[in-house]
Amino acid sequence: MELEKTVKETLKKIKLNKKEKILVALSGGKDSTAVAYLLKKFGYNVEGFHIDLKIGKYSDDCKRAVEELCKELKIKCHYYDIKAEMGSGMCYLRSSIQGNQSKGQIKNCAVCGVIKKWVFNREARRLKFDKIATGHNLDDEAQTFLMNIMKGSPGLSSNTGPITRNRENPNFVTRIKPLFYVAENDVREYIKKKKLPVVFQKCPCSLDSYRVQVRSYLEKMPTKYKMNIVKNFERNYPRIEKLKDLRMQYCEICGEPSRNKICKKCELFSKVK
Ligand code: AMP
Ligand code: ZN
Repeated sequence: MELEKTVKETLKKIKLNKKEKILVALSGGKDSTAVAYLLKKFGYNVEGFHIDLKIGKYSDDCKRAVEELCKELKIKCHYYDIKAEMGSGMCYLRSSIQGNQSKGQIKNCAVCGVIKKWVFNREARRLKFDKIATGHNLDDEAQTFLMNIMKGSPGLSSNTGPITRNRENPNFVTRIKPLFYVAENDVREYIKKKKLPVVFQKCPCSLDSYRVQVRSYLEKMPTKYKMNIVKNFERNYPRIEKLKDLRMQYCEICGEPSRNKICKKCELFSKVK
């Protein structure tokens, strides 16, 4: 099958080892579900990790899908309750952060993305995993690359790829994206064929108009174009990398590895009143 072949080649390219402990970040959506299913099928050492975002029924459905999937795949799953750990659900956290900053500074989904990445790294390290796998697919990556160019900050793409590039810091758990070269439509078809438990509803909290615009533009493009965007970036990595300082330090507040004195997550939380 074409999708499986592409994923196998990606895993070979990033030299993923079957002995490594991989934590799959499971949202309950189709992409991360496909990642867990495929890694397990190919004989990798995987466990699941789900953040319960506490966004009403949507979150309950996602959690149920993850529980069902892990039972079906016979893998262990770790759960992180955002309300218990951070004081409130993701929607509330996001609006308190946004209510306390100058308008338009940071978009909705970016807030959620920063918090999720922070949690993935801290928990994967605490649980002693070697890698974190996420469900990002070719469409997501092409969107991000284009958005960074249009923002005038191509350097923001310098740490992306099927595997993160700054791997020398032991406190920073390497992230992998097994679906990096797989188009979203192909994932959707694959999941339907395999009849895996998945929530197709979009997050009710997502109002990221900029990404929505770029997505609807790219949606009409053939997969080949999206692949060209990603491949073009890969060819230019050495030059793009120079635009960004990849050195790491430690956040003065939470101790997590960070590019700046204060990490992005703590910077956002300092705005919560
Ligand atoms: P998103 O930022 O929602 O586009 O999700 C990107 C990737 O992050 C997904 O493919 C998952 O691997 C992971 N992810 C998103 N939401 C969650 C969640 N609630 N719990 C665990 N992993 C998640
Ligand atoms: Zn911090």
